[in-house]
Amino acid sequence: NLQEKLGRAFKLLSGKGRISEKNIEDAVKQVKLSLLEADVNYKVVKEFIGGITEKALGEEVLKSFTPDQQFIKIVRDELIKMLGEKSVPLKLSSQPSKIMMVGLQGSGKTTTTAKLGTLLRKEGRKPLLVAADVYRPAAIDQLMQLGKQIDMPVFTGDRKNPVKIVQEAMQQAVRNINDVVILDTAGRLHIDDAMMRELKEIVSAVKPDEILMVVDAMTGQDAVNSAKAFNEALELSGFVVTKLDGDARGGVILSIRHVTGKPVKFIGISEKPDGIEAFHPDRVAGRILGMGDVLSLIDKLQYNIDEEKAKEMEEKFLKNKFDLEDFLDQLKEVKKLGSIADIMEMIPGAPKDVDLAGSEKSMKRTEAIIHSMTSKERRNPKLLNYSRKQRVARGSGTTIQDVNKLLKSYDQMRSMMKQFGRKGKLLKGMKGFS
Ligand code: GDP
Ligand code: MG
Repeated sequence: NLQEKLGRAFKLLSGKGRISEKNIEDAVKQVKLSLLEADVNYKVVKEFIGGITEKALGEEVLKSFTPDQQFIKIVRDELIKMLGEKSVPLKLSSQPSKIMMVGLQGSGKTTTTAKLGTLLRKEGRKPLLVAADVYRPAAIDQLMQLGKQIDMPVFTGDRKNPVKIVQEAMQQAVRNINDVVILDTAGRLHIDDAMMRELKEIVSAVKPDEILMVVDAMTGQDAVNSAKAFNEALELSGFVVTKLDGDARGGVILSIRHVTGKPVKFIGISEKPDGIEAFHPDRVAGRILGMGDVLSLIDKLQYNIDEEKAKEMEEKFLKNKFDLEDFLDQLKEVKKLGSIADIMEMIPGAPKDVDLAGSEKSMKRTEAIIHSMTSKERRNPKLLNYSRKQRVARGSGTTIQDVNKLLKSYDQMRSMMKQFGRKGKLLKGMKGFS
């Protein structure tokens, strides 16, 4: 599992007060092995490793109090660079718009045709599906079946001549006011000239807005090679990587974009018509590292909170020495970031019912309560028995319930911070990467 393996690499650096170049080299070696084992193309890995080594050996990691986190951040940034920064939406400009699916047999074209139809309909469009795979009668039936299942029209034409079928389908779309046409084309088991010729004919007949190649993640390096060949022959606009719900090793996604320069736009995550997701490189990078959006949170903290304080907090989280005094400090810093709800959202596995509430009011109440405690109590909240709580409540103009609620929030935050320290286990992550 890529996450576990990377986790091991990061552990090599964690808990070390000072680290050496040797430590970093060991960690980099682990990352390299993890990527290769995850089926990432060798050349891609080599470039990737070059990038992180250079940065990791820089001052930042060597001098950091939390070298593992700095290192993870470097790996993540590099992953995002490799995967692309943002998700790339479909570019559908003509009327009706045309999406052409291409790819080898069994990659998931027909299934993805129906999935995309479902997705676009949710966005308010009215798709027409077109069965242009005429070589296997079963393929046409399969799309018709899917069309029935999702209640979407399927154009089959004469079932013989793909170019004629797609041309007629365009006329049909205009007649029926379909604003997007999705073409399911024929694939072969291997790339051959006849297939490419046919696809090119279809391309020049309809001039698709999007030519998406569907790639089966389970096929590993073969997928990367065929992606390259298809892209050279057809000028693809992007990729759909399917079957990431199986035990495919997500390396394919990482390689494709790097090798072809074209974005992965969607991923397939089940056989069902709704088993498709827009691909978000930044989120996936986080998931590969098994830490959700924690890193964007760290980014945000680093950006907003003064450095010293952030480091101090990080240290405390990791050592699990986070008392109410820190809690109070944290609240003050947090106020600078925006609502607590926003922040909680970024932390995977954060309890949903933390009732710190974003509201100023409850924040003020919390501050008042903590201020009413003695510093001994702040350092060791366990001291707060009933009579002490009563005193604190009176002093802060709140109730015992308020005090209890605060202590509960604090406990939840603490246990969350504990997980923060054991970040490797924090998130199960995307199945495709396990
Ligand atoms: P085509 O030959 O390229 O049209 O491929 P199909 O659409 O017929 O898909 C081949 C097989 O892969 C079918 O059994 C699909 O149900 C399955 N499939 C396609 N996409 C996914 C996916 O994202 N996840 C899973 N688990 N199966 C998929
Ligand atoms: Mg098919």
